[in-house]
Amino acid sequence: MSRFLSSGHAALTPYTPGEQPRDQQYTKLNTNESPFPPSPLVQAAAAGAAGSLNLYNDPACTALREAAARLWGVKPENIMPVNGSDEILYFAFLTFCDAARPIAFPDVSYGFYPVYADLMHIPAHIIPLREDFSIDPEDYAALGENIVIANPNAPTGMALSPAQIETIVRSNPDNVVIIDEAYVDFGAESCVGLISKYDNLLVTRTFSKSRSLAGARLGFGIGSEELIRDLNTIRYSVHPYNVNSMTQAAGAAAIADDAYYEENCRRIEEIRAYAAGELIALGFEVLPSKANFLFARSPDIPGGELYRKLKERGVLVRWFASDRIRDFTRITVGTRGQMDILLDRVRNILEERGANL
Ligand code: PMP
Repeated sequence: MSRFLSSGHAALTPYTPGEQPRDQQYTKLNTNESPFPPSPLVQAAAAGAAGSLNLYNDPACTALREAAARLWGVKPENIMPVNGSDEILYFAFLTFCDAARPIAFPDVSYGFYPVYADLMHIPAHIIPLREDFSIDPEDYAALGENIVIANPNAPTGMALSPAQIETIVRSNPDNVVIIDEAYVDFGAESCVGLISKYDNLLVTRTFSKSRSLAGARLGFGIGSEELIRDLNTIRYSVHPYNVNSMTQAAGAAAIADDAYYEENCRRIEEIRAYAAGELIALGFEVLPSKANFLFARSPDIPGGELYRKLKERGVLVRWFASDRIRDFTRITVGTRGQMDILLDRVRNILEERGANL
């Protein structure tokens, strides 16, 4: 331990981001990025904003919030743009939780939730998924604790319906329920429509996946005016200029070019169905994904070994070493060409092990 690290953080295990190799030699299916570039309109808007980088950006993100409010059918006062949705999660934990206000989330979910809880000394109430890796909404009914659920969940890709989420939100009126919709654009249903009905619901979104802007770092919190006001109290106490001007311009242009993203999401859904079918034909169990990734395990090879052998063959996927999911690998849905490379390498690896294909 460093002698400078504060004692409160001595035991902190940080989040491990997926590998981001800089040599570009890999078929990169490990961090759920979009395989498609941002739309030309977005690239032009970001370049246009570059000319005013001598000036501070708008801390209220006025134009971007107005565009996002139109997109999601809410008021600008219901929206807080952030530096990637990791930041809204960070702000939400900081704003609504503390040692006396725990947060509940599933045992298999996004790895940042336990890290933020540890960082801020918030007790984490960890609720196991069912055997089939689905979330039982009953486990969260009338819990009387703050809750964060990724919907679709990560890394399973499995989604709850808005009606199931609504029972959770309705039965916990004095607690904040955060629904992390990072992957909702690939076939699941959003809960944004419930914002006007429930003042304790915070929906988080990102432009990193469906809108091809992972490197621009743009996410959003969407909630009642009261929740957004509370979140802004914290944001203005930490980092008011959190969304830079090129990203604000890129985000507004991405919303204006909605059709481009809709089309890309449908393509990803088609490629997902194709790749899932091929993996099943190779003997894999594939969880029913509504996200831009597949979570799959083979009876013929452990997850960690498949990850390593794929990496040796130039394909990066994600493997998590935790107990319940160590047999699985998480595979981002890329282009059809990328998936064919993956499938070819998987076939070779299984054949090499003598699997009966
Ligand atoms: N939520 C979930 C469930 C995720 O998988 C990710 C991506 N790592 C995020 C939030 C954060 O994404 P970003 O900060 O790029 O918006």
